[in-house]
Amino acid sequence: MSHDCLFCRIASGDIRTAFVAENVDAVAFRDINPRAPLHVLVIPRVHIDSLASAADHALLGSLLGLVTQIAREEGVAESGYRVVINTGNDGGQTVPHLHLHLLAGRHMDWPPG
Ligand code: 5GP
Ligand code: ZN
Repeated sequence: MSHDCLFCRIASGDIRTAFVAENVDAVAFRDINPRAPLHVLVIPRVHIDSLASAADHALLGSLLGLVTQIAREEGVAESGYRVVINTGNDGGQTVPHLHLHLLAGRHMDWPPG
């Protein structure tokens, strides 16, 4: 884990954060600046800069599996939700540790801004 990386410090417990869910590969916690009534971030325990440098496709599947599990547990699987992976500068990524946004609880506009 990188001591310089905010999300590595959250994943390792160095920064105490309540996890919504976790599995062997990933942890999930609420976004500090929620953009929807439900806004959860799912991150790998290991440091990966972004989706662009994610070579472990089984790990990516595990992250998505945790997203769908949380959606069921939070009661939004039926009403619907959006999963976003901002990637790189044009993608709007601000934290350089791969993370999936799970957004739900309101209708989402399309296209995104
Ligand atoms: P990005 O813009 O990189 O796709 O998403 C980064 C997300 O991380 C943002 O939605 C931001 O609100 C969230 N975030 C940044 N710092 C923290 C933090 O210290 N704790 C939590 N829970 N979320 C954070
Ligand atoms: Zn990291």
